[in-house]
Amino acid sequence: MTDVITARNLSKRYGSVDAVSDVSFAVAEGEAFCLLGPNGAGKSTTIRMLATLTRPDGGSASVAGFDVRRQQRSVRASIGYVAQSAGTDDYLTGRENLLVQAAAQRLSRSKARPRVAELLDLVGLADAADRIVRTYSGGMRRRLEIAMGIVHEPRVLFLDEPTTGLDPEARATMWDEFRRMRIEQNLTVLLTTHYLEEADQLADRILIVGRGRVVASGTPESLKAGLAGDSVSVELTNGPSAEAAVGVLARIGLAAVTRDGAVLRAQVERGSRALPAILSVLEAAGLRVESAAVARPTLDDVYLHHAGRSFGEAVSR
Ligand code: ADP
Repeated sequence: MTDVITARNLSKRYGSVDAVSDVSFAVAEGEAFCLLGPNGAGKSTTIRMLATLTRPDGGSASVAGFDVRRQQRSVRASIGYVAQSAGTDDYLTGRENLLVQAAAQRLSRSKARPRVAELLDLVGLADAADRIVRTYSGGMRRRLEIAMGIVHEPRVLFLDEPTTGLDPEARATMWDEFRRMRIEQNLTVLLTTHYLEEADQLADRILIVGRGRVVASGTPESLKAGLAGDSVSVELTNGPSAEAAVGVLARIGLAAVTRDGAVLRAQVERGSRALPAILSVLEAAGLRVESAAVARPTLDDVYLHHAGRSFGEAVSR
């Protein structure tokens, strides 16, 4: 399989901030590849360098066989780029927005009409095509923006935070449309997200980034399988006592315990073995447990393992 995107030691500095440091990866034809990381991790900067919107300070990259520094025009002709807040015209209909975009991409009128109808169908906006965009929901707007990004049939689509700001239902609809689009349009997709579940749902492979650096990479399954053991979580009846519970658990050898409100989480070799000991030591310390669960590791555990802090902590930083 050929690589459609390659990044080698990409770096970008803003003042004293290393927005992106030494980031390398390759995306194969037809793959959905996800840059996953908390806000400020360098995801947008990476995508903007690949889309030729900002110049790398170090390293090199190619997209669809073209060098992002020297062949900017060819790169741009090969890609669709949907930014975090892409522009639609509120006072035009969905169809009109797409026709304007088709004209901007120099599609002939005879090609534009059927392409626009196809895209409206593809992103589930056929019924709303002739309403002005001002009446669209957030999810509908986002799907229109994505359709606008692929009007010229690019080989590669860059999607920056496709579902940020959408409610869970709109996000789920977007995921369905995304899967359909990939199958029907044969696209290579590079997307960014700070939602672990989104990366898990949509990506063939994930690059976890934090503070401009690569933290880990692999398929969602291999990243989770790479963590031995189980994840144990315990919810205490009384939130403030969770701090004391971390100390109590340290006494039975559980070091990397994280706390999220009243919920404690730890990585153990065998959850079903460890849980009784955890419950009895907490009880002996006078700490009451509301509920407990054992699960296979999640991407959150993967992030915690590699980055040394939980994803939730990093996102709300
Ligand atoms: P992400 O997309 O993962 O949220 P960004 O790539 O937007 O992260 O930002 C990475 C870091 O670079 C952040 O610390 C951000 O503040 C900084 N940064 C991004 N763009 C600029 C810019 N144009 N000028 C100055 N700093 C920037």
